[in-house]
Amino acid sequence: MITLKGAEVSAKIKEQVLAMNGKLGGYVPTAAIVRIGERPDDLSYERNVMKRIAAYGMETKSYVYPADITEEEFFAEFQKINDDEAIDGILLFRPLPKYINEKRAEQMIRPEKDLDGICAVNTAKVFAGEKDGFAPCTAEAVIEVLKAFDIPMEGKRAVIVGRSMVVGRPLSMLMLKENVTVTVCHTKTKDLKAVCREADILVAAAGKAKMLDASFLKEGAVLIDVGINVDENGKLCGDVLWEGLEEKASAATPVPGGVGAVTTAVLAKHLAMAAERKVNR
Ligand code: NDP
Repeated sequence: MITLKGAEVSAKIKEQVLAMNGKLGGYVPTAAIVRIGERPDDLSYERNVMKRIAAYGMETKSYVYPADITEEEFFAEFQKINDDEAIDGILLFRPLPKYINEKRAEQMIRPEKDLDGICAVNTAKVFAGEKDGFAPCTAEAVIEVLKAFDIPMEGKRAVIVGRSMVVGRPLSMLMLKENVTVTVCHTKTKDLKAVCREADILVAAAGKAKMLDASFLKEGAVLIDVGINVDENGKLCGDVLWEGLEEKASAATPVPGGVGAVTTAVLAKHLAMAAERKVNR
């Protein structure tokens, strides 16, 4: 079984980003990171994003607001960032506090700055298979992993477990664009194991620690584990139990060090693309 290491994929994406940025005539792309409050998960993701963007030769500006900011104050600030010509891309940490209308924020963000593909325009472009939209970074990271390791997609059968707007749904559209035959599963799917066993490529994105195991795989299938969970010992783990995979899968992404490690690289690529489009406009 081949271990599909995210670091190898990120290294390839880094080369692409450096090449894109090399054509900007010295212009340095800048991302705005917009966060409300101090959730530990957000802080750790923010550190990873900042490190990645810096490593790819670009800049970040953090906009951090107290957890008690009013809705109107937040939207006034957000509009300023949205309109700021010096900002090429925006990463908005969600979920927002309940009293702030998240839908409004999603629809307000300028499509050309929407690094994580959250606005309706980008959703529609991903749905239509258009080139110039931004897909949610994690969904696109799955495609990047498959491409980086030359795993054939055309004509293959994929099963995705999970139908969220950040992973399962957009990924189904991105896979369709690659001529994959896609099935999307969820909590109401009957006989999940039998459906999963039909997959040439099985994507686990349910967010349930070790919910699947080797018995859900067809012999020789490729497993992409998007899940990031904490197990009973407090350790990071995926949706799939790693033990037993060796004999069944032809390739699999580890957790940690798999898809998660590629997500911030895709975000950095989106920033470079946003800046390239701005400079060429
Ligand atoms: P959500 O909770 O939003 O969605 C989970 C999906 O999985 C739902 O569609 C749900 O079905 C389905 N599901 C849950 N349990 C089962 C089950 N027992 N059988 C079948 N389907 C099930 O999660 P996200 O999409 O946001 O995240 C999924 C995982 O990916 C998480 O572990 C998360 O941490 C990880 N993740 C990793 C990222 C990264 O690599 N950087 C980024 C984003 C997420 P239903 O719709 O019926 O409820």
